Amino acid sequence: MTPNRFDYARPATLAEALALLARHGEDAAPLAGGQSLMPMLALRVARPALLLDLNRLPGLDGIERHGELLRIGAMARHAAVLAHPLVAAQAPLLPLALRHVAHPAIRNRGTLGGSLCLADPAAELPACMLALDAVLVLASAAGERRVAAPDFFQGLYATARRAEEMLLRVEIPIAAGWTPWFAEISRRHGDFAMAGLAMMRRPGAARLAFFGVEAHPRRLPALEAAVAAGADAAALLPALLDPLASPEASAAYRLHLAQGLLRRAAKEIAPHAAA
Ligand SMILES: Cc1cc2nc3c(=O)[nH]c(=O)nc-3n(C[C@H](O)[C@H](O)[C@H](O)COP(=O)(O)OP(=O)(O)OC[C@H]3O[C@@H](n4cnc5c(N)ncnc54)[C@H](O)[C@@H]3O)c2cc1C
Repeated sequence: MTPNRFDYARPATLAEALALLARHGEDAAPLAGGQSLMPMLALRVARPALLLDLNRLPGLDGIERHGELLRIGAMARHAAVLAHPLVAAQAPLLPLALRHVAHPAIRNRGTLGGSLCLADPAAELPACMLALDAVLVLASAAGERRVAAPDFFQGLYATARRAEEMLLRVEIPIAAGWTPWFAEISRRHGDFAMAGLAMMRRPGAARLAFFGVEAHPRRLPALEAAVAAGADAAALLPALLDPLASPEASAAYRLHLAQGLLRRAAKEIAPHAAA
């Protein structure tokens, strides 16, 4: 299929981009890596009147330490995040996850911001943002707004981003003392996951989020407390989760996979992180 007709703008400054978003609101679609948006246009799942290309905006792809925060710009490509030494040192959960995101060609174009704003239920990075306790920084012509990751992901492909806002960056607290654990189950490497688990663990505490299981990743305080206490947390999952069903995997199967991932994490996580 071919896309509907749309106008195209490639602003050179953030102020120009935000003014266009303020004017066009829901009729505008920001274009980042295009790895999801271009197929959505071709299939006419997305029918924006204006395609707002973010690729010429300066300064949105930075990866830097700012005090006790790791800041990653929305336009940072998956491949750049995967290879960056600061990320490996300060947020090692991300490289563990990014190896599972699609394939090298897609990782060369796909961006952190695109993945988070799309909020695909099976995407790895939204769950990582929850486990990492990240804050998402959004901007509109009226100024900036900060949204904690658990408040950002609100449903199936639904986020707290307002139509006139764009995501600028994420801020991740430096993870001293936390150990990452990540795994997913998909039919082939690089496919979207049928179930996955991103976890940060330290003695007496756990932060975790499933992906590919429910409509959106979320923190589950009762589950985290059970994991931190070394209890059989997997036994709690039938009461806590509301798994998706699809032709690829039934709700019961996704629940089974989620339980398996949690039990595997309990076995594999390093003793110094769990004791
Ligand atoms: C074959 C294939 C396999 C894939 N497998 C995986 C996988 O296993 N796991 C996974 O997580 N992903 C997967 N992806 C998706 C890919 O990894 C990208 O993360 C994803 O396409 C979104 O990033 P993007 O930069 O391409 O965003 P785009 O496609 O450009 O945009 C996606 C959405 O986000 C909005 N948007 C983008 N940037 C911003 C911003 N800064 N502010 C506000 N809104 C914004 C756009 O308007 C659009 O609605 C796959 C893609 C393909 C084609």
